[in-house]
Amino acid sequence: MIRNHLSTIIITIVTATMGVIAAIAFGKMHHPEELFPSDGLTGKVMLSDYFEGIKGTNGDTEVYLYDSGIEGGTALLCGGTHSNEAASFLSTVVILENLKVTSGRVIIIPRLNNSSFTCSDPMEGFPAFYEIPTKNGTRRFRLGSRVTNPLDQWPDPLVFAQYPSNQQLSGFETRNLNRAYPGRPDGSLTEKVAYAIIQLIDKEKVNIAFDLHESSPEVPIVNVIVYHENYEDIAMGAILGLEMANLQFSPETSPKNFHGLSHREWGDYTDAIPFLMETSNPSMGRLRGETNVDLVLRGYSDNYKKAKETGALRIAYREDTGEPIEHRVGRHIMGIVELLNSYNLYYPDKQIVIENLPDYDLIMGKGVGEFLNN
Ligand SMILES: [Zn+2]
Repeated sequence: MIRNHLSTIIITIVTATMGVIAAIAFGKMHHPEELFPSDGLTGKVMLSDYFEGIKGTNGDTEVYLYDSGIEGGTALLCGGTHSNEAASFLSTVVILENLKVTSGRVIIIPRLNNSSFTCSDPMEGFPAFYEIPTKNGTRRFRLGSRVTNPLDQWPDPLVFAQYPSNQQLSGFETRNLNRAYPGRPDGSLTEKVAYAIIQLIDKEKVNIAFDLHESSPEVPIVNVIVYHENYEDIAMGAILGLEMANLQFSPETSPKNFHGLSHREWGDYTDAIPFLMETSNPSMGRLRGETNVDLVLRGYSDNYKKAKETGALRIAYREDTGEPIEHRVGRHIMGIVELLNSYNLYYPDKQIVIENLPDYDLIMGKGVGEFLNN
């Protein structure tokens, strides 16, 4: 009897300790990582300044403004729609911390779905953080979830009816920001965030907008530029420019009947020219095996190497080098630069000229940390 009591007490203490440790780790995901904008920063506001309905919620997020003071167009760069896609967020951070705008304006939102940074995807075994060494020490970043934290939006419906298309998707997608556009002011938190982004695009008269993503290597839509059908010429011009820099991107038209996505609805509901880019991230795939920080950053997986060698799957994976974070961030930055170059040819009176960003070779040679401030 006494022994039974003793084991109950021990089990209770061990469980409580594990609970406290988990709660502390979980709590840390609610502290946003500090960012260090370049001298080019001219203003910082919140997304709720464009739609009050998200003020005081976990959906509110920082909006960084870079105004050259020279008349031109306005670009919007968004990372962190899906915060489990490390290069999506990190590419905007590298830009934010180095950018100089010499014509027009650039607006950067690194944590587009801010709520999704505060949790990770259940049952996926993802690390909650990763670290990047820099010249002045180590920077720690959160690896969040694909969707809004269920603590901020719950419960999910059995079937999600996308607004306003009424397209039916699985219930979980109700928390996916990239299914929520154009959003609505009285909808779920995710729909409200989407609505706020559409308001920002309108009010700031955004001319060109980027949504950065990553996908698993076995998904067909990877290493692509997805464009709205009205702006094919700009996409093709950029793809040519990228070819010259030895970077292969495939053009993909935004499917007209697939609703809620940025490349579809930003194009349909605003005057902005939207582009979505995807890099290949083995830590997101089903073949990946153990999911640790090394896989997230080095992007090397023996399973994917074998899959590539056998040819059983047509996958976007480089069997010798894998898909390291430098390669993925370098591709995103070069994609933005070339899309802006191409845009500037078509809109000479609405120029957006940016400088001081590291190119692909520089990032590959020196690492991402070399281009992060402290
Ligand atoms: Zn994504």
